[in-house]
Amino acid sequence: MLDPVPDLFGGRFPDAFRAEVRTQLTDLGVELLLGSGLRQPPPTPPGVAGRFSVQTAAGTTVTADVWFACYGGAAQGGTLAAPGERVAVTPELRVRGHDTLFAIGDVTDVPEMKMAATANAHAGVVAANVTALVEGRALTAHEPHPAGIVLPLGPKGGASYAPDLGVLGAEATTDIKGDLFVEMYRDLLGVTP
Ligand SMILES: Cc1cc2nc3c(=O)[nH]c(=O)nc-3n(C[C@H](O)[C@H](O)[C@H](O)COP(=O)(O)OP(=O)(O)OC[C@H]3O[C@@H](n4cnc5c(N)ncnc54)[C@H](O)[C@@H]3O)c2cc1C
Repeated sequence: MLDPVPDLFGGRFPDAFRAEVRTQLTDLGVELLLGSGLRQPPPTPPGVAGRFSVQTAAGTTVTADVWFACYGGAAQGGTLAAPGERVAVTPELRVRGHDTLFAIGDVTDVPEMKMAATANAHAGVVAANVTALVEGRALTAHEPHPAGIVLPLGPKGGASYAPDLGVLGAEATTDIKGDLFVEMYRDLLGVTP
């Protein structure tokens, strides 16, 4: 695993969480090459098999059969935001400058991690606020979520962190998300296996 940042998760989350993930990755045989990016992108497209060698800026040669680009996601704010920027919203998730236009999810500039869980919370707040507008009631503010993570590493591994729970290891993480929330989303979307 190669990343130009000096530590896992860019140094986010407590040391104990990063140490737990580092240990599990090492046990899985994952070599961590941190703190130096590639001199040039790999010659093959991401996700397409094809053996290649590349060099990091620090001079390490990496040979691989496939690579995945786990970076570069960007919000598409369209006409509501400048290119590359997120849509500015009020605490009630109204698009700034608009009384009856709301935005939710990754595209907003709410100061919190961009996650499905927070997008879901935004949806609840906006649904309530649309109803409140219709009924002439006061709007509810979205409380930005503190940084947290549930990171499965295969069906039996992983680690989690939340400010109120602290760091959780493989067993607790498997209990929470060993199935990658497939069951939960099946129920939510009414999908029959
Ligand atoms: C690899 C990966 C793993 C993740 N794992 C987790 C996780 O474990 N837990 C978690 O909570 N979150 C996770 N996330 C984050 C989570 O996926 C996002 O926070 C969530 O999907 C945000 O939902 P959204 O509806 O705001 O945006 P999206 O899910 O990105 O939906 C936006 C939609 O808008 C469409 N769109 C874009 N431009 C236009 C346009 N001009 N016109 C019409 N449609 C358009 C896009 O195609 C897309 O379908 C992960 C993200 C990635 C990339």
